[in-house]
Amino acid sequence: MSDYILAKQNGRKIPLEDKIFGISNRAKKMIAEKGAGQVINATIGSLLDDDGNLVVLSSVAEAVKELEPVDFADYAPIGGIPQFREAVKKAAFGSFQPKRFTEAVSTPGGTGAIRNAIANYSEPGDKILTSDWHWAPYNTIAGEMGRTIDTYRMFDEQGRFNGAAFAEKVEELSEAQGSLVIILNTPAHNPTGYSLTLEDWDRVMDSIKSAAVKAESIVLLVDVAYIDFAGDEEEYRRFLPRLEAVPENVLPIIAYSLSKTYTLYGTRCGAMICMAQTEAIAAEFKRVCEFSSRGSWSNSAKLAQVILSKIYGDPELLKKVDQERAGYREMLIKRGRAFEEEAKKADLEIVPFDAGFFVSIPCERPDEISKQLENQGLFIVPLAKGLRVSIASVSEAACRKIPGMVKAAMEK
Ligand code: PLP
Repeated sequence: MSDYILAKQNGRKIPLEDKIFGISNRAKKMIAEKGAGQVINATIGSLLDDDGNLVVLSSVAEAVKELEPVDFADYAPIGGIPQFREAVKKAAFGSFQPKRFTEAVSTPGGTGAIRNAIANYSEPGDKILTSDWHWAPYNTIAGEMGRTIDTYRMFDEQGRFNGAAFAEKVEELSEAQGSLVIILNTPAHNPTGYSLTLEDWDRVMDSIKSAAVKAESIVLLVDVAYIDFAGDEEEYRRFLPRLEAVPENVLPIIAYSLSKTYTLYGTRCGAMICMAQTEAIAAEFKRVCEFSSRGSWSNSAKLAQVILSKIYGDPELLKKVDQERAGYREMLIKRGRAFEEEAKKADLEIVPFDAGFFVSIPCERPDEISKQLENQGLFIVPLAKGLRVSIASVSEAACRKIPGMVKAAMEK
């Protein structure tokens, strides 16, 4: 019997409740009953300060206050306002100047960029490739369009990026399908916090180049949602030139998000930026992605597009925003280091971590362990292969407490 009354299932498995919001609601309920001091809610995917308040860059908030009504009330063109399209390339690339043809199309957050890339560079029934540890909504986005997610093992036995497993899957899927969309979320991957090293990148690009000899097309979608919270902005953009050394039928696309970088999560702003070898491929990218936008969300909201344009039009403001973010980034990095230190002390194995909003712990009984921890007031997210802890949403002191609690629960 179908679970649905009037709605069509269309091959999707739709839970009755979003898992993360469900856990978060239970955490809020416990806070109401027992007080905030008794609860650690490490489920939230936004950056919170040590008191649990959402971090909003004051420099960005000031810029919002100075907007004119037309800056947010009016429609933006389908692909974004011209100033935004230029500004977002600077935001994504930093000082790197691509030699390829770049086009930026505005999207509602990084999510929209992922959606449009899958819609336009794969076909219904195709498999989209990403790592076994991945952001769960990739499945939802692909599934909504009749695609599925296939995975490779992200880490080898030594805890290094598993270039061999990646190469094997790229070869297999591109041969079977003729074309392939690959999603790589780096740096500061969600949910592990891993950042591909330059050596990892060499391996990735070699595999793609080799598969491209026979393939019709390979799209490498680099989801950089956390790039500006990983560490030094320039250092973490050093992989970008590697994206250029590919043949014409390989199209790198950057999925850029303003959600974390500018603390503008709710304004739903992002962009997809192509790095095409020919002008014709870049023009096609713009044409097909704008068409998809029209048929899904139409235009993206204008407000954050104007904000980013203002930030990049005013060097002083840009400096202010970057400095303010750097302070919060430091806070986040300290939390990560504290977590790593305590995990080591508690002899708790964690998935290779570099930086970012999340740390993951391999675990064979994730649902059972997280339930047990909930009873003790610690709320984390059970995943298929382990437990995800949001260090972005808890204090450094909590980061020092969590590893011991998890270890104890796992030993029971
Ligand atoms: N990619 C990853 C891995 C994420 O974790 C997120 C947000 O949580 C996004 C992309 C996109 O976020 P948004 O659509 O808010 O820009």
